[in-house]
Amino acid sequence: MQNIYNFTLKELEEKMQPAFRAKQIYHWLYVKYTQDFDSMQNLPKDLKETLKKDYKIQHLEIIKVEISKDGTKKYLFKTLDGFSFESVFIKMRDKKLDENGNVLEGERYTFCLSSQIGCKVGCAFCFTAKGGFVRDLSAGEIVEQVVRLKKDNDLLPEKRVNIVFMGMGEPLNNLDNVAQAIKVISQLDGLSISPRRQTISTSGIAPRIKKLGELNLGVQLAISLHAVDNALRTKLIPMNKAYNIESIIEAVREFPVDTRKKIMFEYLVIKDVNDDIKSAKTLLKLLNGLQAKVNLILFNPHEGSEFKRPEMKKVKEFADFLVKRGLLATIRESKGIDISAACGQLREKELKVSHETL
Ligand code: SAH
Ligand code: SF4
Repeated sequence: MQNIYNFTLKELEEKMQPAFRAKQIYHWLYVKYTQDFDSMQNLPKDLKETLKKDYKIQHLEIIKVEISKDGTKKYLFKTLDGFSFESVFIKMRDKKLDENGNVLEGERYTFCLSSQIGCKVGCAFCFTAKGGFVRDLSAGEIVEQVVRLKKDNDLLPEKRVNIVFMGMGEPLNNLDNVAQAIKVISQLDGLSISPRRQTISTSGIAPRIKKLGELNLGVQLAISLHAVDNALRTKLIPMNKAYNIESIIEAVREFPVDTRKKIMFEYLVIKDVNDDIKSAKTLLKLLNGLQAKVNLILFNPHEGSEFKRPEMKKVKEFADFLVKRGLLATIRESKGIDISAACGQLREKELKVSHETL
């Protein structure tokens, strides 16, 4: 039994007789968000029966939804083998109307997806890391997160959605499945979310950044840099020993970038650790000559963490320093902070829940 969300349209066409059935199935799956073959009305009965024997649609169960005051929703999913992981639904912008009630701009949503259950990288500041690593998510399980978030929120197929791989896991440690999921998610006649609107965030596995570039998927890249000197970065992200700052920057230099877009460098600002202007200066030097933008993230403290949240004043000074010198820098809005839905905040609390429900 195969997960039907694993396949691109072309792959399904190769499996179907006649091939045009694949397009019809795609429409049911990704435009109507249908999760049972019996409801696919324009398919002949015998095809439905074969499909039921060969493929399964639903692989995830929603076991909890937490809703933040700002409308952000955190979904806890359970897999068929009984593990749980999360995705976050973020409403980035409300609909804008003119004085006559005409729509000027539609709503915008961002879905923060998980690529693995847990993570092997073990960053010192990360909540996900505390629970260790369980397993990779399949391409189909990644794709289904998008379908379920759209379905559960009654989003019309054409609503503008951005995807960020900033949930649980290191996407480049599950590159094959993530790459396949991106292909399925961007499929015209399906979810049709262009790769340009999908961002892979990585803790910086230099050779895999290179490999991702070679795949030429057209996705955006975000690098979790967090520190500008190797000693500190190794303390925060142990893998920095193998792939240090210089090797990451070199891999980024070779990465094919959409000329209209920039590579994002995420910088987790931690009080008295990396929030000084000297670090900002070094960061500026480091990114010199790159098509880069910096996203400053305020560290979100969690139970038992040795780090503290920085003062907003210092983060603003840090950002101003960069902006005044021509480097685009933004401070990430903390959506869903009251339900700890911030990316990188996922797991543990819920892991306990999942053990109880197993
Ligand atoms: N593994 C990938 C993607 C998932 S982590 C990566 O590390 O890039 C997504 C983002 O959440 C990263 O930028 C990470 O630094 C951030 N993050 C992790 N722990 C956090 C915390 N305690 N507070 C705020 N952001 C955090
Ligand atoms: Fe893994 Fe990213 Fe968390 Fe580091 S920050 S442990 S790479 S999920």
